[in-house]
Order: sequence, then structure tokens, then C-alpha cells
Amino acid sequence: MKKPLRHLVLILGDQLDEASSALSDFDPQQDALWMAEVAEESTHVISAKQRTTVFLSAMRHFAAHMRDQGRRVFYSELDAQDNTGTLAGELEKAIQQHHPEKLVMTAPGEWRVLQSLRTVARDNQLMLEIRDDTHFFSTVRDFAQHAQGRKQLRLEFFYREMRQKTGILMEGKQPIGGQWNFDADNRASFGKKGPPPLPKPSRFAPDDITQKVIDLVNSKMASHPGSVAEFGWPVTRAQALQALSEFIAHRLPSFGLYQDAMWEGEVWLYHSHLSSALNLKLLNPREVVAAATEALQQGHAPLPAVEGFVRQILGWREYVRGIYWTHMPDYVALNQMQAQEALPAFFWTGKTDMACLRDAIHQTLNHGYAHHIQRLMVTGLYALLLGVKPQEVHAWYLGVYVDAIEWVELPNTLGMSQFADGGLMASKPYVASGKYIDRMSNHCKGCQYDPAQSTGDKACPFTTLYWDYLIRHADALAKNPRMTMQLKNLSRLSDDSRLAITAQAQQHRQP
Ligand SMILES: Cc1cc2nc3c(=O)[nH]c(=O)nc-3n(C[C@H](O)[C@H](O)[C@H](O)COP(=O)(O)OP(=O)(O)OC[C@H]3O[C@@H](n4cnc5c(N)ncnc54)[C@H](O)[C@@H]3O)c2cc1C
Ligand code: SF4
Repeated sequence: MKKPLRHLVLILGDQLDEASSALSDFDPQQDALWMAEVAEESTHVISAKQRTTVFLSAMRHFAAHMRDQGRRVFYSELDAQDNTGTLAGELEKAIQQHHPEKLVMTAPGEWRVLQSLRTVARDNQLMLEIRDDTHFFSTVRDFAQHAQGRKQLRLEFFYREMRQKTGILMEGKQPIGGQWNFDADNRASFGKKGPPPLPKPSRFAPDDITQKVIDLVNSKMASHPGSVAEFGWPVTRAQALQALSEFIAHRLPSFGLYQDAMWEGEVWLYHSHLSSALNLKLLNPREVVAAATEALQQGHAPLPAVEGFVRQILGWREYVRGIYWTHMPDYVALNQMQAQEALPAFFWTGKTDMACLRDAIHQTLNHGYAHHIQRLMVTGLYALLLGVKPQEVHAWYLGVYVDAIEWVELPNTLGMSQFADGGLMASKPYVASGKYIDRMSNHCKGCQYDPAQSTGDKACPFTTLYWDYLIRHADALAKNPRMTMQLKNLSRLSDDSRLAITAQAQQHRQP
């Protein structure tokens, strides 16, 4: 007689680590893994081809690795005839077939998924044991404790606490180098010459597994945005480790300096491109941070670069996760600035005469990647200034990037980029005119618009919309001390200029 199944261990597409908490007591004699590819995960928001390919390929590689280790894996393929199309449907089927005594999983990265799996467990009167996700330095409980009693949440305070708790970049109780933050030394532009020569990061050629996924995505999701003609993301742990060591060797030393800089046609620059590997759990943030601090100790990378990089992972990444889980499910519906415009259609094609947006959107569709400043100060800024409904902006960001999972995407989009949470994530809206983009890139040199002009034929839409945003929201923003300078500049505009800006902004919004 077959042995009863003790644990059915649920492994989601972003939980691909054999050392995860869900697998900590896995017994091959009594337990099995459950993994499912379902259409719902690519359609509840429309997922771009690059993003779906990363997830499915990494899942298939992980399942193969688990089987090689002698573990039973119940795996639903996307194109299986009886695939129900939803995680709930596939789990229900597996429960009926295998009759597990208990379901075990690591905490998922999306509120919606957690609710749907809980419902299946409850309907089947099965216990669903949810274990802490040990791929983070902190727990959501730690964050809730940090947030308790604070009127305002700010990354800087949380980050310092994390440095103290972990001892990372610390000398006793003091930060190494006597400063918590080296922003003043960082964030240069490339000047007129452009980025210095830099080895291209390894792109991983599709193997048989990935190629099959690419074919599947191209046939089943032909109408989904983007292209997988160039696919090169790490989909195994070995590839992710190679990407990490190349980043440390070539890019980390100038990471801080060029963190915010952009250059036409240059996709990779000084960034790590490790977010998808981190979010799929092919890499653990502890090993990424350890590799960076080791480079500091070896004298390979300077402190401002290493601190800047560590802050992104030990600070921002943990912080946004805390915001997400302590504020869902209400967070997703917030729209503090009452923005109601539709997302412009060119976000799905890149067909626009605004050079900066064209470049950022093209690389997004071709690679599923754009660096932070492109997301925040090009696509995000444009949507914010135009007044696009934050939920439409959220659906776009969640669909197009290979690293997009709701716990990290939503607070970055809705909070940091669109200020829709009224200042929970960011102390002020990230608003700027086209002059910011001109300072940080060469885009404006090849653009038909002029970032210095806010009205007229050559006016840069960012500049027009920037002033229009301040005009529209002046009363609400007046309460924010960090907006004083910008509003003071607004007050210098004549009534005629304001009227002309408002008219030009309205004209720009016409479809
Ligand atoms: C509107 C918007 C949407 C975003 N959506 C996502 C998303 O869906 N998934 C995602 O992982 N990041 C998101 N980010 C944060 C950030 O832009 C990406 O993590 C980063 O661009 C990924 O590229 P990289 O790996 O080269 O990062 P690097 O610049 O090399 O940074 C190193 C690592 O730090 C972490 N990190 C950096 N900034 C942030 C941040 N603000 N929040 C959380 N982690 C951070 C990432 O894990 C990243 O890999 C978003 C930012 C904005 C403004
Ligand atoms: S001029 Fe304006 S639209 Fe053109 S690239 Fe510069 S910021 Fe973008």
C-alpha cells in the first residue's frame, strides 16, 4: 500500500530555493512538492513575455533540480490539457489526487495569492502551515514593531536600525566611515563623454528548458507585450551566482557614483541586474550583501559604492516589504491625488517622440528591465505628472518587469513613484521638470523637445506637466515643508504663464 502523503509543500514561482523554510524538514519518504504554472498569473495583470519566461523557466529548472535530488514533484504545466488556469484550481486538484495530511509553505509574496491558497485549505479542512520567509533580513513583525507609534515612516530610520541589528557596515555602534549615508559622494551623471567602457554583463543563452518556455510563451501569449528575441536572465542558482560575482568585479566600484545616471541605448550601466534572481530566491540577500562588504574589505570597492548598494538591499528592499504587508489589502486602492487619466497607449509600444520615454520603454519591452531612475524619474514621473490613475500605473509595472512581484512593485509604484499613499513611502512627491532628465542623461540632445521650455511647439512635455502639477496641487502640497522651494518658484510665474501652461498641459492630455 502507498504511504500516505504527510506534507504537500507548496512552492510558488518566486520561492525557488532548496534552503527555504518550507523545505527545512522535507522528508522524501513522506512529502512531495507542488508547483503550478497557471494562466491566471500572467493575465490578472497582463504579464510581458520576458517576465513570464523568467518565471516559468526558473520554475522548470528548479523542479528538475528537485527531482534530481530524489524529491517527488507534482508539477502542472501551463499547456497541460486539464490545467484549470488558476493556482486555487490546481491545488484543489492535487489535494483530491494525493490526499495530503497537511499543506506547508513559505509566506507568499502577494496578498491575493495568500487569500486564494488559504481558501482552498479551508474548503478542504486542511491545515496550511505558513512559515516565515527567511530570504529577508527582517520579518514583517519586526517592521510592524518599528512602525508602531511613529507618525511618519522613513527609510533612513529603518535602515539605521537594520544596520545596528545586523552589524553590517558597522564599527561597534558607529557606522563604518562615520556616516550612515554617502549620497553626497554619489549620483553623478556621465558628463558629455558618456559612460566609461565597461564589460557587458553575461547574458545566459537559453538552454532546452528555456527554449521550450520561449516557444510556449510565443505561441500561447503572442499578444502579450514585449519580445523574448533577446532573453538572457539567470534562471538557475549557478547562473545567478555568476551574475553576482561579475557585478562585484566590474560594476560595484562605481555603483554609487553612477546610480542615477542614464544614457541613450545603454541598458545595463553600473547596476547589478540581480533583482529578479533575488526576488525568485535564486540568491539570498545575505550572500549578496556579504559579497559587497567583502569587496570593501579587500579594497576592491570604495565605501560610498558599497554603502549605496547595501542600502538598496538591507534598507529599501526590506522597507517596501514591510509597508506592503502592514498596509494590504487597502493599500492597492489608494489614490491620494485623485489622479484619473488613462495610461497612454505608448507605454505598451514605446512609440512616442519623447526620447527619454521611448528609450526606457523600448528597453523595458525588449529586456523586462529598466534601472531605478528610469522607473522613478522617466516612466513613473511622466505618469505622475500626467495624472494617470495609480492603479493603471501599478498594473503596468507589475506586468512588464522581470523582477515584478507585488510586495516590492506596489509600494515602489503607488507610494514612491505616484505619491498615491499621501506620503507613507516618500516624504514628498518625486516631481521634476525635463531639466532633471537633461542633467542625468543625454536623452534631450536627441529629442525634438527642449527641457528648458514649458510652452510652445518645442516645450518638453515633462516641463509643461511639472508646472501644471504644481499649479493643480499647490494647495495640498503647501502643507509639506519639503515642497517649499518648488512652490516658491511656482509663485514667481506670472498669471499669463500659468494659464499658458495649463492650456498646453490640457492639449498634451488630449488623445
Ligand atoms: C515605479 C517603480 C517600480 C519598481 N518595481 C520593482 C519591482 O517590481 N521589483 C523590484 O525588485 N524592484 C522594483 N523597483 C525598485 C528598483 O527600481 C529595482 O529593484 C531595480 O531597478 C532593479 O534593478 P537592479 O537589480 O539592477 O538594481 P540595483 O540598482 O543594482 O540595486 C540593487 C538591488 O537593490 C534592490 N533595490 C533597489 N532599489 C529598490 C527599491 N526601491 N525597492 C526594493 N528593492 C530595491 C533590488 O533588489 C536590486 O536588485 C521599482 C522602482 C520603481 C520606482
Ligand atoms: S526634452 Fe523632455 S521629452 Fe525630450 S528627452 Fe528631454 S526630458 Fe524627455
